[in-house]
Amino acid sequence: NVRVRFAPSPTGFLHLGGLRTALYNYFFARKHNGKFILRIEDTDQTRIVPGAIEQLQNDLRWSGIEIDEGPTEGGNFGPYIQSQRLQIYRDQVNVLLNNGSAYQCFCTDSRLNLLRKQALKQQEVPKYDNRCRHLTPEEVRNKIDQGKPSCIRFKISDKDESFDDLIYGRITCNISLNEGDPVILKTDGYPTYHLANVVDDHFMNISHVLRGVEWQISTTKHILLYRAFNWTPPSFGHLPLLMNSDGTKLSKRQGDIRITHYKDSGIFPQALINFIVHSGGGFTKDLQTGLKPQSYSMEELTEQFNVDKINSHSGKIMQDRLLEFNKLELEKKINDPKDLNRLVGDVKTLLIKTYPQKKENNTLQYDDEHIKSILKWAIPRINTLSELTSKNLEFVWFLPSNMEIKESNIEIISSFVRYLESEDLNNDRLSGILKEFCKKHDVPFGSFMKTVRYALSGLKEGPSVAEMMSILGKRNTLERLEMCIN
Ligand code: GLU
Repeated sequence: NVRVRFAPSPTGFLHLGGLRTALYNYFFARKHNGKFILRIEDTDQTRIVPGAIEQLQNDLRWSGIEIDEGPTEGGNFGPYIQSQRLQIYRDQVNVLLNNGSAYQCFCTDSRLNLLRKQALKQQEVPKYDNRCRHLTPEEVRNKIDQGKPSCIRFKISDKDESFDDLIYGRITCNISLNEGDPVILKTDGYPTYHLANVVDDHFMNISHVLRGVEWQISTTKHILLYRAFNWTPPSFGHLPLLMNSDGTKLSKRQGDIRITHYKDSGIFPQALINFIVHSGGGFTKDLQTGLKPQSYSMEELTEQFNVDKINSHSGKIMQDRLLEFNKLELEKKINDPKDLNRLVGDVKTLLIKTYPQKKENNTLQYDDEHIKSILKWAIPRINTLSELTSKNLEFVWFLPSNMEIKESNIEIISSFVRYLESEDLNNDRLSGILKEFCKKHDVPFGSFMKTVRYALSGLKEGPSVAEMMSILGKRNTLERLEMCIN
């Protein structure tokens, strides 16, 4: 019975690394007919960002991840927000206190600081010296009677401990070399990450933990906790880091890696997902083969997902591929009648947002069919919908204001208008018609095309005039030319 969880802390926005973890858990769950659970780990109350939980859920849904159990979805193992489970942690801490695996620690901050300073001075790893581990029951009672604040620490073993990582193989470590007994319940009554994470994974029946490799050093500690509780631990797999293509660590400093940022820049969810899964492995087919990227659906990715194929070395993100994936998705959508209808709506929203002024003046009047033909025409020219409002393509929506047409060109444009009015502007014939006109009026083709292109679009360079006329249609073409000569 596969049950996996994505367990973010609501300390900010979901970014690429987080989404990758969520996705791999999701594929794993779907592949094995299991459940994908969202759990919010908010026990560090000082780092909480208001609104972050809603934002997280929105970002996950936008990505196409369906949450089976979570704060909003509910489920039989809730609550799914750690700050609502405090009593559960306190009860479990008592289990550990009673069986001798944990103890109360009364050390003050100033003592702990002193220990740290001394260690640093002697160039040693600063760690708690486990002093309170050795208090007698009487000493403990005295301190409690004196009203001394305390936290609870977990006794870690000083031996090598091993576990089999689904991705990295056998991992062996002795945590006591680097740290003293860790705090599991803080003075304020809140659990630390380690305790809450283990207790929840156990009570939520989590079968597999797939999380970032930065948590691998915590896993040994978690396994010791499972043993102290006499519980069977889940299987653990740690996902390698995602890196920039130059091998540096992916961080917010090198461009915005928040999911909302991609969403707002017109990136489609499936493009972002393909971009992420194409680095780092995890799929039966090698997604990276072939020069031309191929974009896979959620179903295809689920089908191909295979934990054994996840690389244990860092994955490099190929930034320049993101737009290529987006173009592929855009093309797919434009060629699918249902998606195309939806895109038309998106284009209208985009236009209103980009040109609020024009909406008010009613200068943006395009019917759905026209928008569809513009989209089809635009396939080779754009990577995102928002590029439809770039300087080079804006002309499809309206003629820029303050155009300057040379006095000397007015006459020839007028003749051109009269000529076009009498012609059937069938697309196949357009370039022929243009050539014919130039011959008849004895004007050089090249320079006349420049003039018409400018009159139709305000552009000095750009698509061919025939193409412009075909995308604008006869009515718009004539209207624009007339505007220039009047
Ligand atoms: N709350 C941790 C995080 O923010 C969860 C790590 C884990 O999956 O155990 O990533």
